[in-house]
Amino acid sequence: MIPVRGVEGACVAVLGLGRSGLSAARALRAGGAVPLCFDDSEGARSAAESEGFAVADLSRAGAFANVASLIVSPGIPHLYPAPHRVIVAAQEAGVPVDNDIGLFFRSLATVDWHGFDVAPRVIAVTGSNGKSTTSALVHHVLQTAGRESQLAGNIGRGVLDIEPPGDGGVVVLELSSYQTDLARALTPDMAVFTNFSPDHLDRHAGLGGYFAAKRRLFAEGGPDRAIIGVDEAEGRYLAGQMAEGRGDDRVIRISVSRKLSGTGWAVFANKGFLSENRQGKQVASIDLRAIAGLPGRHNHQNACAAYAACRTIGLAPRVIEQGFLSFEGLPHRSQTIAQKDGVRYVNDSKATNVDSAVQALLAFQNIRWICGGLEKEGGLTGLKPGLEHVIKAYVIGREAAQFALGLEGVEAEICTTMARAVDRAMAEAAAGDVVLLAPAAASFDQYDNFERRGEDFMAEVKARL
Ligand code: ADP
Repeated sequence: MIPVRGVEGACVAVLGLGRSGLSAARALRAGGAVPLCFDDSEGARSAAESEGFAVADLSRAGAFANVASLIVSPGIPHLYPAPHRVIVAAQEAGVPVDNDIGLFFRSLATVDWHGFDVAPRVIAVTGSNGKSTTSALVHHVLQTAGRESQLAGNIGRGVLDIEPPGDGGVVVLELSSYQTDLARALTPDMAVFTNFSPDHLDRHAGLGGYFAAKRRLFAEGGPDRAIIGVDEAEGRYLAGQMAEGRGDDRVIRISVSRKLSGTGWAVFANKGFLSENRQGKQVASIDLRAIAGLPGRHNHQNACAAYAACRTIGLAPRVIEQGFLSFEGLPHRSQTIAQKDGVRYVNDSKATNVDSAVQALLAFQNIRWICGGLEKEGGLTGLKPGLEHVIKAYVIGREAAQFALGLEGVEAEICTTMARAVDRAMAEAAAGDVVLLAPAAASFDQYDNFERRGEDFMAEVKARL
């Protein structure tokens, strides 16, 4: 655990008592603060009480009288579509609002660091898609290279739950736009921006707000190295803004859509080959086609970003390649769950938006595609480039018929349930086909989360094999 610094004796309010909220409360307590906790759900409140935390309704009058700051969980709206009433109360009382990421950056460095040969470094990864894969890949490569690495943030483990890093240790943080938007301290040594496409627009009041939230990671005086995907206008703008000049190698540009020329530092993938260029020359390359855990162009983008991050830590290209070769991929992201009679079954339940789903479609051929769910803003037209790879769509979700209307030019069967979709897709699949779950929609109309949806898909497939 990283005890929170500078809070001794202070009363700090914690709103949201899920994984990150509880871990913040514990780290605050370890730093000598007195956490005062609240959550709208009674179950979450009793879980906190059973750990000995004080729980109080923070929206009642005067609740912030003795409170020094408020720590908010990422799932709770802090501004759009409307701020949570407790946040409004804190602001009215003049109390600063922060999150666990802000506390982490303020609390990380310790006096022990004076004795270290190499101070610990933090690599923060943000972007619309590929954050988890890129973060997990960096962590995996560092570990296979024998380096100390810890993975936390939006992925599995609360940031304040990690162990204090040792000499030369690396902390890899996956950060969502909700987290970067609210954190009052955001000072990674390396920051990665994988790509940019519309998502979470309700929480940021549109695309501009969403980009602004992600950009905070690259604010003035920001990271020593910025690794930026430049396949969209936002990434190009950000890279241009960070670089002092043409050859400034503080910025490493990433692309999977073109060969990057020029004198700067660049990592790009072209026809399945990763190239690292510096000062106008290729310094290394890796054949990504040989890497089973990273199928498709989208994963090649993640590979380029992870490669660049590992290079900034000082790893050699061959060492990084070795790490890539043993990477198995993450559950629910282009995950091959079975192969039988020449049919491959792939679970990409994490494709909750159009942009990630189209990448999954482009990564495979002859697809029997299970899609649908709670449609996101922006419509389905972005799927078009991937639809050529689809033989037939099997549409799930409460609004399956409506969803199917958006899939112009593709044969679509309304299945509504996962069981029926798997049944139909398996009955019709022939050798060489891929049965792919990549919904292009959120899961909340039928499932608690995308993990449950992916597990249901796996169970339905396995029951029929
Ligand atoms: P995040 O943590 O940003 O949500 P993940 O690595 O969990 O990213 O992947 C989310 C979804 O996006 C998955 O469906 C995955 O197949 C797809 N995906 C992964 N990497 C990329 C990428 N670089 N570009 C577009 N889609 C991607």
